[in-house]
Amino acid sequence: MLLEVQDLHVEFTSRDGLVNAVNGVSYAVDAGQTLAVLGESGSGKSVTAQAIMGILDSPPGRISKGKILFRGEDLLTMGREARRRIRGEKMAMIFQDALSSLNPVLPVGYQLGEMFRVHRGASRKESKAAAIELMERVRIPAARERVGDYPHQFSGGMRQRIMIAMALALEPDLIIADEPTTALDVTVQAQVMDLLSELQQEYRMGLILITHDLGVVADAADVIAVMYAGKIVEHAPVDALYKRPAHPYTKGLLESIPRLDRKGQDLYAIKGLPPNLARIPPGCSFHPRCPIARDRCAVDVPPLYEVAPDRSSACHYWKETIGD
Ligand code: SF4
Ligand code: MG
Repeated sequence: MLLEVQDLHVEFTSRDGLVNAVNGVSYAVDAGQTLAVLGESGSGKSVTAQAIMGILDSPPGRISKGKILFRGEDLLTMGREARRRIRGEKMAMIFQDALSSLNPVLPVGYQLGEMFRVHRGASRKESKAAAIELMERVRIPAARERVGDYPHQFSGGMRQRIMIAMALALEPDLIIADEPTTALDVTVQAQVMDLLSELQQEYRMGLILITHDLGVVADAADVIAVMYAGKIVEHAPVDALYKRPAHPYTKGLLESIPRLDRKGQDLYAIKGLPPNLARIPPGCSFHPRCPIARDRCAVDVPPLYEVAPDRSSACHYWKETIGD
């Protein structure tokens, strides 16, 4: 297995007290596989990614328990140098906002080339050639002429392609993309997702796709982990999850996707808001919002029940949920 997160716990201290941002998350992604991690903001999906990348520092977060295995070796206990090399060269992250991730006063070609100068000891000339090649890889038109352009001279979609190029530069084994298309309009979103999927297949990388939008990941993902209040509530192959969700939260998310055949009808939206992570409700943390909650749900924490050999759901009533 390329990457395995095992029983990860991450805590923050906030003005409200101790915040359990990640509360026992386990997931895995293999080479050539795409795992989508789906959840509302505050579900812990980004914090888990930050823990993997070692960038948990703002606000100060602490991994209080768990393992993060990269090809079987725990990143949390290995030597500093080995960890730095894996995170710097074998993993890359793509963020939502390319404008704030790129340096506004340096040409994009220079920033791409820097990867090769710093990590591969390439010369100016070599790194420029490599930058142009990367820009062509992510299909930026007229790459050779545009290698000296600055970030603001590119459209949002093109800037996101540059971020993908930057992530690909060292041919990592794993890419984590956190809401990579959220800032883009719908048609450009689809183009960027297609490009990312295509390159992921070509390079046989593992891809973790973090999103709040189930619609965006439908075609790209193999497996989906749905997160709520710092936990995984459903984990399933994408087709199975779409056809028959096994958790009321997933069901609500699916029913919230705009669909052409339901035009004009009100979208089902899950009532209420995600909980304050300093005060996670007892029992099933989803119970205040759950349309089928029973008395038991406010008391008993649901374990991850095995729904099928490759699926699980943290709902006491998953059979009822999947059944109709
Ligand atoms: Fe709803 Fe209860 Fe299932 Fe939680 S355990 S999702 S509250 S039915
Ligand atoms: Mg986020």
